[in-house]
Amino acid sequence: ILNPVERTAVTQELSENVILTTVDDLYNWARLSSLWPLMFGTACCFIEFAAMIGSRFDFDRFGLVPRATPRQADLIITAGTITMKMAPALVRLYEQMPEPKYVIAMGACTITGGMFSVDSPTAVRGVDKLIPVDIYIPGCPPRPEAIMDAIVKLRKKISNNSIQERGSLVQTHRYYSTTHK
Ligand code: SF4
Repeated sequence: ILNPVERTAVTQELSENVILTTVDDLYNWARLSSLWPLMFGTACCFIEFAAMIGSRFDFDRFGLVPRATPRQADLIITAGTITMKMAPALVRLYEQMPEPKYVIAMGACTITGGMFSVDSPTAVRGVDKLIPVDIYIPGCPPRPEAIMDAIVKLRKKISNNSIQERGSLVQTHRYYSTTHK
């Protein structure tokens, strides 16, 4: 049995050297600290995304390392207009990314078809008709600061995820249709 002085010493020792957490928290911390986005730019929005990679905005400080293959990516930022011809390729890229994975829709063209939504026969009116979107960034084009804000929001969202919930969420979003207009 410890006396009060010893108990205080043990309590202090434990608080300095032992970290208590849950598997979810540990897993989420690791994921949100090392998001690897797939390079996916189809139009002018990508110029702003490219600016994020440079030293001024320093994308890397969030642990984001752009990848050229979907098999090494867990985030896709759709930057630019999505055409009907591009739609199957985007879905295939998304399907090739390992779980858990996230999507940020960047810019008016990606979110609604933008200026092409009125009478273009080839523009997809919303990337969320193809793949599930976690965060939307409105604008034409959105500034790099807005992309950073979306990353911060996505990190917050990931920190509240449960491994089990994310799995069931992904299952409910497999609804791509080749007949989409
Ligand atoms: Fe270009 Fe504007 Fe469309 Fe982005 S939202 S792809 S900047 S036209």
